[in-house]
Amino acid sequence: MLRFGYKVYRLPFRAPVRTNHGVWTERKGILVRVEGEDGSVGFGEIAPIEWFGTETVEEAEEVCRKFGGEVSADVVEQLPARLGCVRFALSMALAEASRADESAKAATSPARLPVAALLPAGRAALDVLAKRLEAGYLAFKWKVGVARAEEELPLLDDLLGRLPGYAKLRLDANGAWDRRTAERWLERCAERPIEFVEQPTEPERVDLLLGLAEDYPVTLALDEAVASLVSARMWQERGWPGVFVLKPALAGPWSELAAWIEATRADVVFSSALETALGRAQILRRVLAGGMTKRALGFGVGELFGTRSFDGPQLGPLLDSSWPDGVVSEQAWNAVT
Ligand code: MG
Repeated sequence: MLRFGYKVYRLPFRAPVRTNHGVWTERKGILVRVEGEDGSVGFGEIAPIEWFGTETVEEAEEVCRKFGGEVSADVVEQLPARLGCVRFALSMALAEASRADESAKAATSPARLPVAALLPAGRAALDVLAKRLEAGYLAFKWKVGVARAEEELPLLDDLLGRLPGYAKLRLDANGAWDRRTAERWLERCAERPIEFVEQPTEPERVDLLLGLAEDYPVTLALDEAVASLVSARMWQERGWPGVFVLKPALAGPWSELAAWIEATRADVVFSSALETALGRAQILRRVLAGGMTKRALGFGVGELFGTRSFDGPQLGPLLDSSWPDGVVSEQAWNAVT
């Protein structure tokens, strides 16, 4: 058995995060700590996003309370699959305590991956694009589906016109389009250098999404539709031909996710669940070591909380192992009061 402890955190975002489900003003989550009999310690982070279909923070807290100060080494296998965030956190904490993290560090190749910079919806994207290009970013994600297509579509060519040939642009509709709007956009994208279009319609519209992916040459990506590994597997079995945007913090144990990617050769983008630096560093260390994707990381979230303990070092346009190596799990743990 291992000693188990947890702390609930509430961190106001420096700038409120706009989502399809309203404005998100603070991140609530749980940090966990395990300690082996030999005194080795590991930390993990539970960072649910309920509207992605994960467990709630309250449910996760209840699970932690029930552990009563102790967990077994096989606790992750004993928990139901729907507790993806809790299982993610515990698998990371156990790996850290067993020093598996050290070998992950040692195995790290000098790999670097670009980080996608987020462009705001509407005309504001043009200014932000100019600034991020100057800062050296190579990949961009533009939020669409916020205003009407008549207003947004003309901006697409303005953006592409300012994008150097080496840079990549992906669009994210967050499921906002209906069939007609999606068709208009995808037609427009057909002849343009778009990396992919993320979640064009609601995740429930399975046949429509599969049909659009078949009918248009532009690559499509699923995000909201594949919050869990279970749903990613389902889409894979349905023959999804596009990209899977995966938020490892929501998807259960890393080892299961990595095994699935390796077995299926799924085309993936790794993306942030707006977790703190603790969870983010554990994910990015493995992503950099794993060679599972060449696509830009969806971790261009900036300084979310405005404190070094929870944001980690500043994250630039290219990420290498120096970033996760600059994050000490215990600092985040100690900073939660
Ligand atoms: Mg998305």
